[in-house]
Amino acid sequence: MKLKLDLHTHCGEATSLYTPNLDIVKRIVDTAKKRGLDGLGVTEHYNKTYGYKVRDLVERELDRELVIIPGQEIDKGPLHIVVLYLPGEITFRFIAHPGYPPVRDFEAYIDETIHGIEYRNPTHDDEMDLELIKSLADKHNLIMLANSDAHFLSDIGKYYNEIDIDELCARAR
Ligand SMILES: [Zn+2]
Repeated sequence: MKLKLDLHTHCGEATSLYTPNLDIVKRIVDTAKKRGLDGLGVTEHYNKTYGYKVRDLVERELDRELVIIPGQEIDKGPLHIVVLYLPGEITFRFIAHPGYPPVRDFEAYIDETIHGIEYRNPTHDDEMDLELIKSLADKHNLIMLANSDAHFLSDIGKYYNEIDIDELCARAR
């Protein structure tokens, strides 16, 4: 089943609170639902605990109103990589905003651990070479993704994907 998913958000940074409480999680869920989303990747910088805590609160207190995929954003050389922890202990990784930071040959960093690449990101659209991204996605069999990279709750869902989580899982194997 295809879901509307924004797979790259910084809700902890957006709320300046790295231990999410129920009130904050309600605000995150409300914002995402107002935007028509089915789910979010919760991907703090170097912090996967935050995403798992948000997911636990949504499952325990909010009747699973929103699909929460825990993740984090890390560095791989000069690239920023978003890591998503999918059901079945599957790890899906995609390149965040290729072009920022500027890297001369970012293809050199694409190996079998990378499964996707952003082609839209509201903060970095101007730095991203769409033709190059498309050709690399074709060549390396990467899923192209559009995400908000939200650093404010109001930015959640600015861009999102209509995609089946099973498709992410299949690509990550
Ligand atoms: Zn980010």
